[in-house]
Amino acid sequence: MSANNWENAVRKVEPYVPGEQPKESDVVKLNTNENPYPPCPEVKELLNDFDISKMRLYPAPDAEILVDSIAQRYGLKSSQIFVGVGSDDVLAMAFMTFFNSDKPILFPDITYSFYDVWADVYRIPYKTCPLKKDFTINPEDYYQENGGIIFPNPNAPTGVLESVSMIEDIVSKNPDSVVIIDEAYIDFGGESCLTLTEKYENLLVVQTYSKSRSMAGMRIGFAMGSEKLIKYMNDVKFSVNSYTMNTITQICGAASMKNEEYFRDIVVKIIDAREKSKKKLAELGFTFTDSASNFIFAKPEQKSAKYVFDELKKRKIFVRYWDKPIICDYLRISVGTDEEMEKLFAALEEILNG
Ligand code: PMP
Repeated sequence: MSANNWENAVRKVEPYVPGEQPKESDVVKLNTNENPYPPCPEVKELLNDFDISKMRLYPAPDAEILVDSIAQRYGLKSSQIFVGVGSDDVLAMAFMTFFNSDKPILFPDITYSFYDVWADVYRIPYKTCPLKKDFTINPEDYYQENGGIIFPNPNAPTGVLESVSMIEDIVSKNPDSVVIIDEAYIDFGGESCLTLTEKYENLLVVQTYSKSRSMAGMRIGFAMGSEKLIKYMNDVKFSVNSYTMNTITQICGAASMKNEEYFRDIVVKIIDAREKSKKKLAELGFTFTDSASNFIFAKPEQKSAKYVFDELKKRKIFVRYWDKPIICDYLRISVGTDEEMEKLFAALEEILNG
């Protein structure tokens, strides 16, 4: 072994652990909030007809066709849209671009568990603000000095939705920081705070194709905000890697954004299944937050969450469980098709009452 100390200079981090992607196909997969329906039919057609010779060329670095389709859908200028390889990529870029201060950034203690990982990898100081007992945000926690603010709305993994007026209160109190609202789940019944971006130059709204548009495997996320914010993000992005998003993804993403009817159709189906599932879970003795997302954060009252998680797994039904303070009593259950939910409930009945 050499006595060299090269490892002292290595950037050491504890990585984010994504939900399990099982190899077997017979799993009822309710653990990563994927959409149970296929992407819109145009995506299939485009994939079938794709001219493979296009692969020879680099993709459009500005992803113009995708950016334009998003701008059109949301009534914004193309210069107000930033796209990335999933919203994880967009958020990581936003952390690198906007959270560049000695003051700590702020986010809730119970939230998307990637935020502290990005803060660590980019050496950004951070402070977490405890949620109230009912898992809502206390806006006053965000009145203190900070180097930036981020939280999801609805929050993950709780599914709890905050109002646009509460978000405006926080943004208006923080003219000297960038505030990022991660709206990964907003299409499942929440009101987006996008309208606030007209008034607040420092507000960035991030959304994804992975949930409501059923394209988690393609990896498309986007940020919307003032032209100034988007320009700053693009400057950083083009200082790291110009060609992040491949050609076929750009084309399919644009087609998906144009099919509003299909989008609304699958979102309504998921909302219906979620509301039915809440009733069933209540009958089974679970308590849960009033989720406005495509998952339910539910606590089994008779048995421990870990026990139920393990028993479901034995029956090839995957949900998400975290062995962490406060949330260790809960399971996060993604909303699947009616058929998948029936299988889940039959198994739960057996586990809890059998
Ligand atoms: N934000 C939140 C709150 C999430 O739960 C997820 C999904 N893990 C993401 C962002 C990232 O999603 P994607 O990269 O697939 O767009």
